Amino acid sequence: MVKHKVYVTDECIACNACVAACEENFYMNDDNTKAKVKKEIIDDKELAKNQEAKDICPVEAIKIEKAK
Ligand code: SF4
Repeated sequence: MVKHKVYVTDECIACNACVAACEENFYMNDDNTKAKVKKEIIDDKELAKNQEAKDICPVEAIKIEKAK
């Protein structure tokens, strides 16, 4: 199964949209200044929801790459 790596860059403006779109894998850090992922390595089943979060991010701070 293909694995994917998900992460949030420092471009994040803490708008919370990714958390609303994919609570399964995104949450805000303790001081609400940056979104974080619960799981950095996800599988195909989890990709669609994480992709939704990526697509909704207004500053393209969410990256999804093929994991090695
Ligand atoms: S949608 Fe983008 S800018 Fe908004 S909290 Fe998530 S990563 Fe940050």
